[in-house]
Amino acid sequence: MDEFELIAHYFSRDRAGEGVIVGVGDDGAVIAPDQGRRLVAVVDTLVADTHFPAGLDATDIGYRAVAVNLSDMAAMGARPRWMTLALTIPEADAAWLEGFAVGLYAAAAEHGVKLVGGDTTSGECLVISVQVLGDVDPDRVLLRSGARSGDTIFVTGTLGDAAAGLEMLERGASESFLVSRFLRPTARVAYGQALAGRAHAAIDISDGLCADLGKLLTASGVGAEIRLEALPLSAALKTAMGSETAQQHALTGGDDYELCFTASLENLPEPGGLAVTAIGTVTAEKGLRCLLNGKPVTVREGGYAHFR
Ligand code: ADP
Ligand code: MG
Repeated sequence: MDEFELIAHYFSRDRAGEGVIVGVGDDGAVIAPDQGRRLVAVVDTLVADTHFPAGLDATDIGYRAVAVNLSDMAAMGARPRWMTLALTIPEADAAWLEGFAVGLYAAAAEHGVKLVGGDTTSGECLVISVQVLGDVDPDRVLLRSGARSGDTIFVTGTLGDAAAGLEMLERGASESFLVSRFLRPTARVAYGQALAGRAHAAIDISDGLCADLGKLLTASGVGAEIRLEALPLSAALKTAMGSETAQQHALTGGDDYELCFTASLENLPEPGGLAVTAIGTVTAEKGLRCLLNGKPVTVREGGYAHFR
């Protein structure tokens, strides 16, 4: 199977329609954004054995590569619409590609995202780069920089699960709630769009709460106090790790792909079935302070940073 057969066989499912004038097959894709909307572009690269164990199921790898990008779109309050895929693979293994494509298209289909182009190369290590394009109302873009002193800080879902799931995967575990939280991140796309125009600032939690909330606070020129006892922890995480380690994972574990945002308490959109938890307050004083039952505590520097 050569490169062109591979593209035709695995990555040419989406045809024209839904804003796609020219999709896979020409030198470039031609897409038609809706009048009056702003384009939002995000890209995330996953390197085997850096971002995920190389031996994971190909379907999970495909799903995850799209979901982490959808999470960035959610954090912008944007509607994801199209994506491109740059794929570097050591060999053209038909079963692997089939599984990968199933996961990739499944994650995209959940939000009506169409694959409109990409690039396929062979290389020593598996590298997957997905770019997602979407749109947003110009007056309602969610940025990291809008947090104000006095805002309440919220997070969606539960925190720390994915980091625990990854540890379990590395120890040879297979299916469990925690493992699936790593393998199948649930990008909060609908809630992100509901927050647009209501939340003051937002970020998605990919490197850990402390690290990512820290970025939001820096971008906004403010600080925060968070209450450790308020952090939303899943029952599965507390059972697996005990409450104290669970809290540590919630603060510094990466890969949860939940949203962290600041807003006034009165102005929250209806969360539907999603858990949305207030964990602290934005302060004029800079820096991130953690309180446990009202007493200040220091937390180990956390989150995953490349090149550190
Ligand atoms: P070019 O040589 O002009 O860069 P390619 O031969 O690399 O074009 O790609 C041919 C077509 O297939 C292009 O439309 C490109 O966007 C698409 N394509 C290549 N690889 C992928 C992929 N992994 N997923 C989706 N589309 C792809
Ligand atoms: Mg060309």
